[in-house]
Amino acid sequence: MRCLERSLTHRLEMSDLGSILVTGKRDPANAARDAHDLGSVIEPIYTSTTFARDENHELHVRSRSGKSVCYSRPDNPTVATCEEILCALEDGADCALVSSGMAAVNAVLEGVVGGGGDERCVLAPTRGYFAVRAFLKEWCASRRVNLIEYDPDYPYVAYGAENERLVVDCPEDTPKNGHNAGVSIYTCMYNAAHYGKRISLIWIESPANPTWDVVDLRRVVRRARELGHGCICVDSTVMTPCLVKPLTLGCDIVMHSATKYINGHGDVVAGALVTREKNENWRKILHVRQLGGAVLGSFDAYLLLRGMRTLDLRVQRQSESALWLARSMQESDMFNGFDVLYIGLPSHLQHDVARRLFQEGLYGGMLSIVLLPEWLQGQWDAKGRRGRVGLGDLVSFCKLVATRSTVWTCATSLGGFESLIEHRYSVECAPGEQNPHVPAGLLRLSVGLENKEDLLLGLEKGVLAALDSI
Ligand code: PLP
Repeated sequence: MRCLERSLTHRLEMSDLGSILVTGKRDPANAARDAHDLGSVIEPIYTSTTFARDENHELHVRSRSGKSVCYSRPDNPTVATCEEILCALEDGADCALVSSGMAAVNAVLEGVVGGGGDERCVLAPTRGYFAVRAFLKEWCASRRVNLIEYDPDYPYVAYGAENERLVVDCPEDTPKNGHNAGVSIYTCMYNAAHYGKRISLIWIESPANPTWDVVDLRRVVRRARELGHGCICVDSTVMTPCLVKPLTLGCDIVMHSATKYINGHGDVVAGALVTREKNENWRKILHVRQLGGAVLGSFDAYLLLRGMRTLDLRVQRQSESALWLARSMQESDMFNGFDVLYIGLPSHLQHDVARRLFQEGLYGGMLSIVLLPEWLQGQWDAKGRRGRVGLGDLVSFCKLVATRSTVWTCATSLGGFESLIEHRYSVECAPGEQNPHVPAGLLRLSVGLENKEDLLLGLEKGVLAALDSI
């Protein structure tokens, strides 16, 4: 009987993502293990910053995993419960919550790369969330770390102290498609090894914001290990553990802007890191969090716990709606002036990689549409307007679509219950600047939980309103 009980608990804890999210990875019979043994079903919010010791100087407050809790900067019971669930979701060995996604990036850089010698190298993409890219560049430049960038559209460039240019033939074919005609992540790894450089940190964002390039994580892990490179960290904010678990594919650390899907309700800024192994890198990351102090408050952890209960339901619905919207737009005359970028569409350059990587045919809730200048030119000509469509005209048209679409809110961020639309070029470029990594005609769509037909109609209204303005 005991055995049976144990195996049931094990199955409950380990088998189903939905069960982990709802029960909090625990046997509900143990719910009474809160500080006052009240049997509260919902995790209490432990607001106390400190926890009393007894006459033997022993601590009595323990997190659900049995860790004793002393002070709320390194450990808070509400935060710890949230960490345990995230850790289980990603199949990791440990999790650390921090005060934002950017604090998580900082902890990885400081923990994994900081303090190394002058030979340090970081490999990172040129496409991805713009603040992470900017921070990686600044951080590496200020610490004399070589930042090697892999970019589908860009020739090979190495930034950093020595500003080296390393180019050798790649012994392996890079994926043959338009975007990958340049130098791939694999070539960068081979080049570094060829010149005797070990890459300390390989940074991956997949799918990468806002064009949704997908990285073949299995293949990167295989090559990195063969070549003796270091830690592989994946920003998995957009994938979520519901769709892909990078640690199970051999990556070392998973990072989330928990502000996005993990919370899903637009009311918390948080970051999460989950590790495959409790190794030296991880010890240093925890040290950075503890001493750097970018910790999450207990109320925010409580909101994350609350948001996470519906994570798999939200991701499933958002993925289904996004696929439906992407297909509908691709087939609709109303949107024939736009390219639709969605990894669930066979037309996406990395659809095959995504198909192998993503579970159960769900591809997430993020997509983009890219306005075609020649189509806009056709609309101008048809209305008798003179002149050629320029960059400013593309930008103005897109901004009108974004702000005139109904149902959608024109706002930054992604992964929430509400659908958001944004013109990324305007957000990422200061006036007068150009950003070669974001198409000027790109509108990023974060699909929420609204009715999918309403979402399509809302976008159509935006396009019609923008056309009216020509
Ligand atoms: N990574 C990705 C993919 C993001 O989209 C964001 C924010 O938009 C971040 C990291 C940074 O996260 P935060 O805003 O929580 O600091």
